[in-house]
Amino acid sequence: MPSQWPALAREISICRACAELAATRQKVVVGDPAPTVPARLVFVGEAPGAQEDAAGKPFVGKAGQLLDQLLADAGMSRAEVGVLNVIKCRPPNNRRPTPAEVAQCRPYLERQLALLQPRLIVALGLTAVTWFLGRRTTLAAARGTVHEVGGYRVIATYHPSAAIRFGPTGAPMAALRDDLAFAARELV
Ligand code: URA
Repeated sequence: MPSQWPALAREISICRACAELAATRQKVVVGDPAPTVPARLVFVGEAPGAQEDAAGKPFVGKAGQLLDQLLADAGMSRAEVGVLNVIKCRPPNNRRPTPAEVAQCRPYLERQLALLQPRLIVALGLTAVTWFLGRRTTLAAARGTVHEVGGYRVIATYHPSAAIRFGPTGAPMAALRDDLAFAARELV
């Protein structure tokens, strides 16, 4: 992990910039750095859910378990990747983060990425994809290529929650599998 990571993590963990989120969260979910710098691969999701909020760790609930399984199927493991979110506090009732919350939290993710220097980023779901691309898009349009943005290489894919919602034979599950295999090939 980068040497400046713990200081940044402490700073993020005491943030109270979003009054509603600071009042309703249990724990700030700073995210997991990758073990090496530069990081090989960093995933970016949307925001912590209930289980992440309780644990203070990213992607530990159902979506996280699916992510772990899909990573293993693509020949990778959670221990070798970074896992971050666009915003670090759980929105009440898992509502979408507001544009103001995303803007408020933006410097934290920017600074985390600057420390990790990922070779490749996988943006999970439309909130993360939009964060990187800086314009309205759809996952169908954004998938299947490596986007070069802000000095980073970014692959867009579905959020594991969408794959859970549409089931094991749904299109998002197949797309996620394809996109993680694509990411693994890009890392060779
Ligand atoms: N969904 C996310 O986007 N991030 C998490 O950490 C957990 C669920």
